[in-house]
Amino acid sequence: MDSQTLSSPSAGRYAPSPSGDLHLGNLRTALFAWLFARSEGHDFVMRVEDLDRVQEGAAQRQLDDLASLGTDWDGEVLVQSTRIPQHMDAVQKLRDAGMVYECFCTRKEIQQAASAPHAAPGAYPGTCRHLTDAERQERRQVRPPALRLAADTAEFTVYDRFAGDYTGAVDDFVLVRNDGKPAYNLAVVVDDGFQNVQQVVRGDDLLFSAPRQAYLATLLGIDIPEYVHVPLALNTEGKRLAKRDGAVTLAQLRAGGVSTAQVMRMIAASMPLAPWRGEGGPHLPETAQQMLEVFNPDTISREPWTVIPTDLESICCG
Ligand code: GLU
Repeated sequence: MDSQTLSSPSAGRYAPSPSGDLHLGNLRTALFAWLFARSEGHDFVMRVEDLDRVQEGAAQRQLDDLASLGTDWDGEVLVQSTRIPQHMDAVQKLRDAGMVYECFCTRKEIQQAASAPHAAPGAYPGTCRHLTDAERQERRQVRPPALRLAADTAEFTVYDRFAGDYTGAVDDFVLVRNDGKPAYNLAVVVDDGFQNVQQVVRGDDLLFSAPRQAYLATLLGIDIPEYVHVPLALNTEGKRLAKRDGAVTLAQLRAGGVSTAQVMRMIAASMPLAPWRGEGGPHLPETAQQMLEVFNPDTISREPWTVIPTDLESICCG
């Protein structure tokens, strides 16, 4: 682990990928992460996960949107692509322990192998784990390898505050992609360790990744964080909310005349949060600070939030 970790306070975090503007579901998850951290005595840190899917200018717009809702963070924003040497140090540590191997499989080969009758769903079946030196040599001429973890377990159990004990598959997942970049599962664990993240609040579409990440953390001597996987925002078809679903980003909502206070009320109603009883009589919280004053983790919804874009006005103000 990097040395700074030991002196920094425990933190919660938000770690968006700068692939475009944040939508209401992302903003709600960020607010949840901020509320959990701030209400439970953690720092709150921000990390731009820019090893993949970067859209020019999106990182700054995301940070501006988060700040405009009143979510503040401690210290500098950590930009993940500046940490590649540290990600590679972690790979070296695993290599030294004999837990890394080169993989030459194409996506198609993996899909075919993974659909074999006894393969765990979506799990890499270990095709390249036992290649001979000669076979590796030969394959290196054809394509650059990815690096995989030689996992010594097939599953791992994490504790999630909403899901309870959750056991998920641990396969020989990719540590370094075949373009040479650190893979998400590696970078997220190393950087959470560096930022002393002790609480991970994120969308429950990532719950299935937690066992792999927690297992990797144990191999690297990094504390396993507390997990809180929160339900996602969905569109009216029950699919994960996306930008094409209508006016769902702050910029789009503002262009339609929806104020920040209305966005906050809408998100507060979805969580749901209790009314804020300050000046102006009881009403749904309209600022991050008001949300924090009424936040109670025990009463938040365990169901997804269905967003009806054409009906945003009535959701927020009705
Ligand atoms: N960067 C990931 C995303 O935006 C989230 C990573 C995480 O929270 O662990 O989907």
